[in-house]
Amino acid sequence: MRRGMTNVMTCSRCGGTYEDVLHAIRDCPRARNLWMRLVRSSHWPEFFSRDLKTWLQLNVSKQLGRLDQDWPSTFATTCWSLWRWRNEAIFGNGDDHTDWFFTVVHRVRNYCEDVKLVHAHQTKNSTRINKVVKWDKPDYGWVKINVDGACCKDQASSAACGGMARNAHGLFIGAFTLHYGLCKVVLEMDSLTARELVRSGVVDSHPCAALIRGIHSRCSTVGEVSFKHVYREGNRVADAMAALAYTSDFSLVFHQSPPGEIVTLLDEDAMGIGSLRSCVV
Ligand SMILES: [Zn+2]
Repeated sequence: MRRGMTNVMTCSRCGGTYEDVLHAIRDCPRARNLWMRLVRSSHWPEFFSRDLKTWLQLNVSKQLGRLDQDWPSTFATTCWSLWRWRNEAIFGNGDDHTDWFFTVVHRVRNYCEDVKLVHAHQTKNSTRINKVVKWDKPDYGWVKINVDGACCKDQASSAACGGMARNAHGLFIGAFTLHYGLCKVVLEMDSLTARELVRSGVVDSHPCAALIRGIHSRCSTVGEVSFKHVYREGNRVADAMAALAYTSDFSLVFHQSPPGEIVTLLDEDAMGIGSLRSCVV
């Protein structure tokens, strides 16, 4: 009862007549949809037909995933996430607008990075130092655009993004547009997952394929585009722009001058002021 497993075994999310563990984390329609985005289609027949025990064995012994991520880690993270989302929905804390796919991919990515950090920390040759992380000006002839996204749990269907274009002097140019005659652009972001998806491209069956194709198509109209990753401390202006987007409506807004809220951050970036971050070297 405490977990919402009542003596009435119907699924409150889809109305299915019998909610056992496999229904909750695999067969309920939204869970199934998530798995179909994560598991290679050639494995769907065995993935969706096994009983609980052999299903678990299958997932710890084979690489079933579409993405270039460790499958047992992806599988375990997805099961845990689905169970948590199921409980949140039953107890009324659910957020129907969360994109489960991206949330899981981010969680797995963070988990794998943490594991790598722990291993690196344990090797004798690695040391941890505090180093200054800051925004760096692009080379002459280049424009740097920092981008970031944000989402807010309190506002339903509320996701936002923002960005800032600056030249080699660190001076504000504007927002995302080709009207400035850009020919060489660095797109810098603090999401390694997004950077890798855009930079390496994806197969046609990937759930983000249309989006990535759209990005590449737009990039092809610019002379040269480079995608770079920067730690969050070096991306503070874009972070602030994303937060600012909550105060606007749902359309894309172009700013011809820097919003007052981010002027101080812009000045600090231009002066090369950074923040300390503990990094493995
Ligand atoms: Zn269901």
